[in-house]
Amino acid sequence: MKIGVAKEIEVGERRVALVPDVIARLTKQGVEVWVEKGAGEAAFFSDETYTAAGAKIISDPATLWGEVDVVVKVAPPKEAEISQMRQGGVLIGFLNPLGNPPVVAQLASRGVTAFSMEMIPRTSRAQSMDALSSQAGVAGYKATLIAAAACPKFFPMLTTAAGTIRPAKVFIMGAGVAGLQAIATARRLGAVVEAFDIRPAVKEEVQSLGAKFVEVQLAEETVAAGGYAREISEESKRRTQEVVAQHIAAADVVITTAQVPGKKAPVLVTEEMVLAMKPGSVIVDLAAEQGGNCALTQAGKDVVVQGVTIIGPINLPASMPVHASQMYAKNVSTLLQLMAPKGELILNFEDDIIRDTCLTHQGEIRSERVRDALEAVKAKV
Ligand code: NAD
Repeated sequence: MKIGVAKEIEVGERRVALVPDVIARLTKQGVEVWVEKGAGEAAFFSDETYTAAGAKIISDPATLWGEVDVVVKVAPPKEAEISQMRQGGVLIGFLNPLGNPPVVAQLASRGVTAFSMEMIPRTSRAQSMDALSSQAGVAGYKATLIAAAACPKFFPMLTTAAGTIRPAKVFIMGAGVAGLQAIATARRLGAVVEAFDIRPAVKEEVQSLGAKFVEVQLAEETVAAGGYAREISEESKRRTQEVVAQHIAAADVVITTAQVPGKKAPVLVTEEMVLAMKPGSVIVDLAAEQGGNCALTQAGKDVVVQGVTIIGPINLPASMPVHASQMYAKNVSTLLQLMAPKGELILNFEDDIIRDTCLTHQGEIRSERVRDALEAVKAKV
């Protein structure tokens, strides 16, 4: 089997799909690995380190895309990249199938067998392949650091000769993987942390990190299949807003991470709530790219409204490319191991991980959710 590591061409994408450490393990098993020249540069992995791990450096992208059995990458492929793939070739990466279903259609019509890292099931067996979680952890950590840097106050309590400084109050909204890492990071920095989520099951995890869980009793089921949140009713939204409003007003920093898979992010912080915050407060909105959890968020921008700074960062994992790539590479290589246990590709579609992750095979779009999303896009045009 020949694996190709593509150089990312998406603006701002600094991660690389496989790092030299992981490649050394693959090449020892007899797998041939080709790495596009400069693929690891933005993540500080030089071509020399890849060569030392047993990889071959390829200067011409068309050769890499067209000749390997499996192309691995991070960001979704562009049309020009897809058109270089050979029929029956395998592609693994974050393919954003629900956000951009036309890419999936292109992959199907090219005859590519595509695997989407977003579709790795959230099960114990698949945990080491769960790239959404590994990258969400990076984003949650970085969101807290961005908030701390933008906050005009200390996070920890300080007792100094110049007086006692009270710790900052941080409110985290959405306590999934990113939110929990944001809580842990804010706690490590010494802030007083509160957190809120519509899934009551996260209460214990929040408390075990030393944060207070803000509870809202809702009269409906908030958890969907796979443990994800479901979209809640207007009445439930109103109830949650009533409760969270006072916590937002009291906070120095609000970090929002709430998502509902396949949907626009829920608005949790209204304009009115922003205006009720103290000047100098900071909001970091991790859902900026999905429409934002704050009504005033602009993706990729810092907005200041009556002294409140609203930061809408884009692709935070790419801002920590060394560890983000290392973790992603571990996720991808574990999936590769499952697909090719003896170094040769055997796609066993009876395995739930292979089945659920595969988007396209032999010209077909296999995922019903993606087919529906594609129909919805076509209907809009
Ligand atoms: P996510 O990124 O889809 O959403 C982030 C958080 O936002 C979730 O906790 C969600 O409940 C919350 N949220 C959604 N709507 C909200 C609203 N209106 N108000 C407040 N909060 C809202 O989620 P995720 O971090 O990817 O994790 C989702 C689930 O998957 C969790 O149950 C997590 O424990 C589970 N998970 C399981 C595994 C595994 O078993 N291997 C791995 C990772 C995650």
